[in-house]
This record gives sequence, structure tokens and C-alpha cells, in this order.
Amino acid sequence: MESEKPTEPTGLLQTHELYKYILETNVYPREPELLKELRALTASHPWAIMGTAPDAGQMIGLLLKIVGAKKTIEVGVFTGYSLLLTALTIPDDGKIVAIDPDREAYEIGLPVIKKAKVEHKIDFIESKALPVLDKMLENPDNEGSFDFAFVDADKINYINYHERIVKLLKVNGIMVYDNTLWFGTVAKPESSVPDYFKEGRVSAIQLNKSLAADPRIDISTVPLGDGLTICRRLY
Ligand code: SAH
Ligand code: CA
Repeated sequence: MESEKPTEPTGLLQTHELYKYILETNVYPREPELLKELRALTASHPWAIMGTAPDAGQMIGLLLKIVGAKKTIEVGVFTGYSLLLTALTIPDDGKIVAIDPDREAYEIGLPVIKKAKVEHKIDFIESKALPVLDKMLENPDNEGSFDFAFVDADKINYINYHERIVKLLKVNGIMVYDNTLWFGTVAKPESSVPDYFKEGRVSAIQLNKSLAADPRIDISTVPLGDGLTICRRLY
């Protein structure tokens, strides 16, 4: 389980009012009803904060549409906010390989996924992601076959996921990493960071450095939600 802890809903912005402004002006009015429903269902979960922030979700939806994504990978499902968002966005014959060892959390959101009539697009695999991605790569047909990947799981493994996902994506395919600014702690000295943020902070710093140095991808880090790093496979 990733160690995200609740904070004021300010995102990474200067003030709560500014974050609220963005959400109320152009995120909530455009958020599909079923996603609102899933978010409400998740709100009472002790780890509700882990659900993808709706402003970050909106960017993911936009990217999926820009690349015309049909085949996607989702690492870290939780109750399924980003999964349902993806399933609602890709075409009817699209496919999502969704990996998470926590089936119980997935089942919280499943009734909404069923109600949305998009379950047929989802291949939920109850497992840690690394062995699944490795297995996928054993079949050469999977190489270079995915349009999009969203990674939102155990931060320590992001670098390992990246190595697999670069190979699974098509050239021009997009991968998005969530929580890459880790509540802003990446830019703070370790001594000023509460203990429960320390491990994730180190993983995020290592990931950001390694993505920035990776010649195989274009990147842009945007301060939506808790920080999204958007990458495009170049070759
Ligand atoms: N994208 C989700 C939030 C994911 S929260 C949403 O929009 O709601 C992080 C998830 O990563 C948790 O559900 C946790 O079970 C999962 N996770 C933790 N370790 C993992 C691993 N090794 N492989 C895949 N998923 C993992
Ligand atoms: Ca997240």
C-alpha cells in the first residue's frame, strides 16, 4: 500500500481557494456522473486520498483522447477512479490491462463500472504489477502494442515499471506517472519532511532524475493532483 496521507485539499497550489477554483470552474462541471458516483463511494474509505485527483484525471482523459488510445495499461487500480475514467474514454472495443493485488478495493468501484457498461474493456489482474509486466513481455506480440499507460502504485517500483512500459508502448505512446511531486516534498530537505513521506520522497526524486535523463522519452511534469509526469516514447 502506498503511504499517501491526507492533507488539506490544496493539491500543489498556493492556496486551497485556487485549487477549489480550478475544480469548480472546469473540473467538476465536466466530470462524468459515474465518476462522481465512484468518488463518493470511495470517500469513506480510510485511504480515499489515494484515488486519482479529479484535476489529474481530467488531464489523463484529455491525453487518452489526443492519442486515440485503444489499448492501455493501468498499474494501481484501488477503487477504480482512473480505471473507470479510462474505460469511459477509450472506444467500445478498447482494452485495459489493470493490475493491482487489492481486489477488495477494486470491488468497491466495480458496481459503478458495471453500471457504466464498460466492464468488458477491463482485464483486471489481481497481482503485483512487476511479474505481470514481465510475463506480458515474454510474448513478443505485446511489445510496442499499447497506446497508453497510467502508473499509480508502489512508488519504489516506478523505475522498474518504466523499463517494462517503455517496451510495451508503441512509439509515440504515452505513459503517465502519478504522485511524482510527492506533496511537494521532492523539493524539501529530508530533515524537514515528516517520516511517513520520507520513503516516497526518495523514490520520487530518483524517478524524476532518471526520467529526465532517459533519451527514449519526451517528458513534462505538471503540478496537477500530486504531480503528474507525462512521457512519450520517442523510439
Ligand atoms: N489509480 C487509483 C489509485 C491507486 S492507489 C485511483 O484512481 O483510484 C495505489 C494502488 O497501488 C493501491 O490500490 C495498491 O493496492 C496498489 N499497489 C501497491 N503495490 C502494488 C504493486 N506492487 N503492483 C500493483 N499495484 C500495487
Ligand atoms: Ca495516486
